[in-house]
Amino acid sequence: MKLTILGCYSATPRALTNTTSQVLEINNHMFLIDCGEGTQVELRKHKIKFNRIKHIFISHLHGDHFFGLVGLISTFRLLTRETDLHIYGPKGIKEVVTLQMKLADSWTNYKLIFHELTSENSELIFEDEEVQVLTIPLNHRIYTNGYLFKEKEGNRKLDIGLVEEANINIAYYRKLAQGFDVVNDDGVLINNKTVTKPGLKPKSYAFCSDTMYKEDIVPIIKNTDVLYHESTFLEKHAYLAPKTKHSTAKEAASIAKQANVGTLLLGHYSTRYEGLNAFKQEAQEIFENVELCEDGKTFNF
Ligand SMILES: [Zn+2]
Repeated sequence: MKLTILGCYSATPRALTNTTSQVLEINNHMFLIDCGEGTQVELRKHKIKFNRIKHIFISHLHGDHFFGLVGLISTFRLLTRETDLHIYGPKGIKEVVTLQMKLADSWTNYKLIFHELTSENSELIFEDEEVQVLTIPLNHRIYTNGYLFKEKEGNRKLDIGLVEEANINIAYYRKLAQGFDVVNDDGVLINNKTVTKPGLKPKSYAFCSDTMYKEDIVPIIKNTDVLYHESTFLEKHAYLAPKTKHSTAKEAASIAKQANVGTLLLGHYSTRYEGLNAFKQEAQEIFENVELCEDGKTFNF
């Protein structure tokens, strides 16, 4: 998996920082997560091929998370896109996008497919042979979901020496990789586990923005490899967190610790702060493995 941070600040785009948007490359997918103003410019800067984006996941309808969406949809049209585009987001997202297009008499020549979300519980919203995407219901001022991206258990690895020794026909190698027991050329049933090893451990990524401290999400994101959790405030402004339904760096760290995640990524910083180091320091008082998101940064995991 490769995660590219296009923007990781809250509120407004500024000369050198952007509002929330990320691209997650997972297996053959290029998932766009949130789409703040200017996202298409950042996609160009990072040379991300527009056509590879087929799924966009929007957490909520505050402007700093989706004001770039209509612009991106419109640009796709100008570039004569033909590929379907799936958009996942809160109920209302279809109305807000189509109203702007309708008033501009500007329809897409590709298929725009909306998946509007209303559930208060985690639900499976995308699945193919290799990947699953689930919602993570968050607690913010308006209806908001985070998203959990999970690779499925991969194929088993064949131990070719043992496979040959067991006299298994090459025609069955695919079945072996899929975990089936097969009959060898002597008519004997071979137990899969005696000739294969588990494949690579499937990876997972949880995106949680925006939300106030919400322990209910812990079971959903348990043991996730990488957790992005918003940390709008430092401790000196902790009193603002419940009021605005955001989190502090320490609260993000507490969720990471309880969920036993591998790495915590911090972001959605309030633009009132000068530097970012204090976010890391405060979080590390609770959870050691913390990384700071910064616009343009990539994480491979
Ligand atoms: Zn918000």
